[in-house]
Amino acid sequence: MTSRPQAIYLDANATTQVLPQAAQAAMLAMQDMYGNPSSSHITGLQAKALMEDTRKAAKQCLGSGNGRLVFTSGATEGIQTAILSALVAARNQGGAAGGLLLYGATEHKAVPESLKHWNQVLGLNAEVMAIPVDKEGRLDLAFIADKAADALMICTMAVNNETGVFQDLKALEHAIRSHNPGVFWMVDCVQALGKIDLDLAHTSIDYAPFSGHKLYAPKGIGMLYIRESAPFTPFIAGGGQEGGLRSGTENLPAMAALKVVLDMLNGKGDTQFADKATLSAYRLRLIAALEQAFGRIVLNHSLENSVPTTLNFAVPGFSSKEIMDLFDAANIRVSSGSACSSKVTGSFVLDAMGLPRWQSESAIRLSFGPAMTEAQLVEACAAIKAAAGALQHSCLLSAESSDSNLTKAPLQGLLQLKSDGACCWLYVEPGSRATVIVDPLPELMDRLLQIVNCQQLPVVAVLDTHGHGDHQSCRTALCQALGLEFDCDHLGWPQDKGASLPLGDASLIRLDTPGHTADSRAYLLKDGGGAQQFAFVGDTVLPGSLGRSNFACSDTGLLYDSLKQLHSTLGETSVLLSSHDYHNDFFTNFAAEIQQNPLLAGLLAGRISREEFILRKDNLDSRLEDQVGEVLMCGAYDQCQQAQSVVEYRGQNLDDLLARDPEALLLDIREPHEYQLSHRQERCINVPLSRLAGFVAENAADYDRMLILICRSGSRSLVAARALKRLGYHNVAHVNGGYALG
Ligand code: PLP
Repeated sequence: MTSRPQAIYLDANATTQVLPQAAQAAMLAMQDMYGNPSSSHITGLQAKALMEDTRKAAKQCLGSGNGRLVFTSGATEGIQTAILSALVAARNQGGAAGGLLLYGATEHKAVPESLKHWNQVLGLNAEVMAIPVDKEGRLDLAFIADKAADALMICTMAVNNETGVFQDLKALEHAIRSHNPGVFWMVDCVQALGKIDLDLAHTSIDYAPFSGHKLYAPKGIGMLYIRESAPFTPFIAGGGQEGGLRSGTENLPAMAALKVVLDMLNGKGDTQFADKATLSAYRLRLIAALEQAFGRIVLNHSLENSVPTTLNFAVPGFSSKEIMDLFDAANIRVSSGSACSSKVTGSFVLDAMGLPRWQSESAIRLSFGPAMTEAQLVEACAAIKAAAGALQHSCLLSAESSDSNLTKAPLQGLLQLKSDGACCWLYVEPGSRATVIVDPLPELMDRLLQIVNCQQLPVVAVLDTHGHGDHQSCRTALCQALGLEFDCDHLGWPQDKGASLPLGDASLIRLDTPGHTADSRAYLLKDGGGAQQFAFVGDTVLPGSLGRSNFACSDTGLLYDSLKQLHSTLGETSVLLSSHDYHNDFFTNFAAEIQQNPLLAGLLAGRISREEFILRKDNLDSRLEDQVGEVLMCGAYDQCQQAQSVVEYRGQNLDDLLARDPEALLLDIREPHEYQLSHRQERCINVPLSRLAGFVAENAADYDRMLILICRSGSRSLVAARALKRLGYHNVAHVNGGYALG
């Protein structure tokens, strides 16, 4: 593979690169100043002096006055120590039971989790309660004023890690202290260091944890400020280092590096950090670049009450995961607010702020530090523009939103679009470009419109496979938005076309398959020569299950008949395209279903009678709600299914592997825009997950060929490899770690 260019790193709130001069200081400490600060010989004394110089620099930087400053391994340890200290003191004072442990709803998880943990370990029986925030992310001071009198401890943060929103510490202090002068108050200052001025000794903050790796020092070093009068219980006991407050031999190299950063913050370094005005101007230029590239972005916080180094935004119509993948391919490293999993989850911080769900699910955090340079900023803006250009190329973004003149990649064949567990399909017949859309989902309406308009696709039908029980179809709205008027039945089938709809040389055949619902039908695609290509089967057969048949309009007996008919019409290997895919199988065929579904296997082999099928299927359906709680599932799925095992390779071995098997296909399964931005292997074909069904339909007979799948990190390639293996491609492997580790 060709080499990778230097990354544009915009994820400073997660961690930062160690500044070169800080790394140099750490190296010097490891090579020359390697003594143990507890040793009484000269090497030890030198080490101790370096440690105390670092502490002095920290105290000056934080304005910690007579407060104590203990070195820790990081902020999570500092948070534990503060919470343990406060809760032990609260217990010793008596009356902890029924008291409150308050924390801001947008705190880093280390805070509520530690509160719950120590509350339980110490047997306090206090109530752990979140303090709400407003739309701007500011703590509800009235709530605090109301509850403070009953609080044993109050935990807040100076600057939020996802949004950069800062709290008004003076106002907060007033709300707390005017109602409870003695309550223990911790302020998580991790994201505040170097971003806002701190003068801790002039506040009544009892504990303030910090972390070195968030500001150019290495991982493994942190600091905890403890107010002079605040109680303290060591979290780590042992050799009595740090005056007995925190045992364990000190991490001197990391302290040496931290000192370089602290000196810079104290204005004593050789070089200087950018000032706030410069950083604010950088953020505005990033916003301008994003707006120019994407047309419209929505900010998830106000610029006025957030530090200038953080920007949290959403691009309408795109999930966090999609933008993350795009940016990674464009070599830009950012974070999403949400945990990226196949099931979309949002950011709890943005949820707590009451932002609309889509903003939370689309949140992207871009963060940098005060060492950012003009040259890095210019490079970042150019990379953002290139990323958006690739989206236009694959028609997911309209070209008007940027001044890019990129050509568009023509779409043909099958495209699978998903929203949660539901699927919508778009098929473009390659010769004529005649297009059908099957089971359009409202959540995907904008994307469908964007694709159809950008690609100028002649849509000849918009179809539903049945009247959906779990969601609305947007068939009518989509036709209206596209300016299409079809004389069709309630599922979109043209009135004048009988059972066959021509699509260029191919044709789509309608087959009624009642059972799941009374109106269920399948649409079978036959090519010009009459050969079966694939079939849209709605919810009659889902990957791994059969459609449920316990709706009021269902009929299990008719489902039995429909399954038999579908099977005899399609055979075992035709690709079946369903309207749900709950477990990332993407598509299926009867051969795969027979393997794992004894009920279907028995039915098709004639071993199970219609009556027995009805009995067993109704029994299966009666357990459906129990399996999935609130969500209305359209098919029973056996959770105990074994995931297909897949051979794994590492990227470094790829060239050799391909050289050994000239017939092997390397499939890059990232989306076309990612592929366009960064494909690095000559013998690669781009088969994105959304087009995997098309690949399978076109290569249904080639089960023996070696297929090696690769993506960004190895998770999509694994999912796709399992889906292919399930369908009978037994010679499939994937690249573990993807391009990231290649
Ligand atoms: N608090 C905040 C606000 C943070 O951003 C982080 C790190 O993400 C932590 C605490 C935990 O810090 P550390 O990684 O040093 O344990």
